[in-house]
Parts: sequence; C-alpha cells; structure tokens
Amino acid sequence: MYLSVVIPVYNESANLDTLFARLIPVLDGLHKPYEVILTNDGSKDDSQAILTRLYNTRPDVIRVIQFARNYGQHPAIMAGFEIAKGEVVVTLDADLQNPPEDIPKLLALIDAGHDVVGGYRGNRLDSTYRKFISKMSNIVRAKITKIEMRDQGCMLRAYKHNIVQLIVKSRESTPFITMLAQYFANNPAEVEVAHEERHGGVSSYNLYKLIRYNFDLVTGFSLVPLQLFTMFGLVASGLSGLLVLYMFARRIVLGPEAEGVFTLFAIVFLLISVAITGLGIIGEYVGRIYLEVRQRPRYVVKSVLGETKK
Ligand code: UDP
Ligand code: MG
Repeated sequence: MYLSVVIPVYNESANLDTLFARLIPVLDGLHKPYEVILTNDGSKDDSQAILTRLYNTRPDVIRVIQFARNYGQHPAIMAGFEIAKGEVVVTLDADLQNPPEDIPKLLALIDAGHDVVGGYRGNRLDSTYRKFISKMSNIVRAKITKIEMRDQGCMLRAYKHNIVQLIVKSRESTPFITMLAQYFANNPAEVEVAHEERHGGVSSYNLYKLIRYNFDLVTGFSLVPLQLFTMFGLVASGLSGLLVLYMFARRIVLGPEAEGVFTLFAIVFLLISVAITGLGIIGEYVGRIYLEVRQRPRYVVKSVLGETKK
C-alpha cells in the first residue's frame, strides 16, 4: 500500500462530511492504493455515527478506530500509526484547517527522497493571542530541545514508514509525534501549506491545556530546565556566600546592626519562590518518571471498523 492518512477526531461532527467530500477525491486522484484511518478520540457528539455512515460508503479504503474515552490528539494519531500499512503516512486534522488538497505537495517531497515532510502554516488564521503563544513556545522549545522545526503545531505532515515505526516504538506515555519525527529524521523537509479557519466546531485547546502541553514538551525532550536550576542555585550560593563574608566583616567592625528588614524580606520571598518553582520543575520530571514506570497502555480501543490488523 502506498499511502495511509491518519486523522484524529474529537467532536468533529460539523466537519466530517466536508472532510470526506474533499479528501477522498484528492486521494483517488493519486491513482495509488491508499487507506484513511480515523481515530474517534472519545467524542461526545455524534462523530461515531457519522464515521460509521462514511465507513459504509467506502469500506474499501476507510478504517475507524473508536477509543473508549478521550486520550488526546497524539495518542489518537499513535493508534492510527500502529495499524497503518502505507509506505508513506500522512497526518491531517479533521477540522479542515489544513486543506487535504495540499497532500500531493507533501508526497512530492517524500518521493524526492525526504523521510519527514512537515507543513508550516503560511498565513496562520488563528487568534492573535493563540499565534503569540505558539510563537513564544516555538522559540523556547527550539532553544531548549535543539530540535529545529518551523511550526510544530501544524499536523499536516508526511512520514516514511520507517519513521512511523520508530515513533510507534517510542513507548513514552505522552508522545509528541511531530517532535519525535523530527528527532528521528535523516533528511527532513518543510513546505508551506495553506491554513484556514476552523470549518466548524471549536478548538479543544484552552490556555491551561496549551501551557501543560508546552511543559510536557520541554520536559519530554530535555533536561535543560533542571540544569538551569542547578546553575541558578550555584550562582545564588556564590553571591550569598559573599554577602555572608561582607556582613560578618561589618559585624566585627561596626557591631550589631538591625536595619533593612524589608529588603531582607524581599530577598527571602524571592528565594523562597524560586525554591518552590524548583520543586515544581523537579516534580514535572518525577511525574513523567511516574507515568513511564506505570507502563499503562496508552489508550483503550472500544471498537474498530474495517481491518483491525496492520
Ligand atoms: N483532537 C483529538 N483529541 C483531542 C483534541 C483534539 O483527537 O483531545 C483532534 C481534533 O479533532 C482535530 C485535531 O486533533 O482533528 C486538532 O485539534 P484542534 O483543531 O482542536 O486543535 P487546534 O487546531 O486548535 O490546534
Ligand atoms: Mg484545528
């Protein structure tokens, strides 16, 4: 099989029909064997009923995985990866923000020898605030993890099968597919893809989820936060040591003094908050270790329509 298209679906009943109407002609137009794997990530609307109806219209190319509950976008894609048969695997969002018509563009680069092709959103149509958050987290992420990628949030991407296998083998409990792919890639390429407003429904990411996502991303790929913390501790200890020597000298020369209590408070508050932040950072890593050692399955599948095997 040439191509597998993997699509995570969470409350997308407003988009699925249009998605199909646009995606299937593009894929048929390739004139190569393909499959579309949709993972219903515990949707609370009638996405499953629509997926079942769509499956019945083209059971030859469609497979639907239904999760028992909501596990998140990346686990949903991972489930598709685990059973994908294509030599090339393309991921796509269900909300039509990235047009399915751009898939041949990615495939052309894969055929030209690249093993990972990432889309980046040229004219990104999200709220200014959303774009600002993405921009900031992109800069921090690139600096801290040393993984260069123009737009890690763009899910219109294509991977060679061996890269998908490596991603599936990465057993971490919170997988970041785009980052893992870029990390494993030998010859990555990037291409501009169009970006539209959400066709229907609402984005399921809010500010809290975005912040959590970025913490997980950074702690999942780097120890830099811990190392920065150690460095800060060393510098602060050095400076405090000097201060102690200075105060000691004053004590001997001038005798006891008791002013500057509020300055002292300010400094103490600062250092205590820094210490609490440090505990939090350690906690992030301990939490990740906890998730990993538990080794729970990443998701539970309730049902599969179409072939269940790879
Ligand atoms: N999605 C999912 N599980 C979730 C959240 C989202 O499978 O818990 C899917 C969603 O249906 C869509 C894609 O992941 O196909 C991207 O989600 P969304 O459009 O909400 O994110 P945004 O475009 O705002 O980054
Ligand atoms: Mg979206």
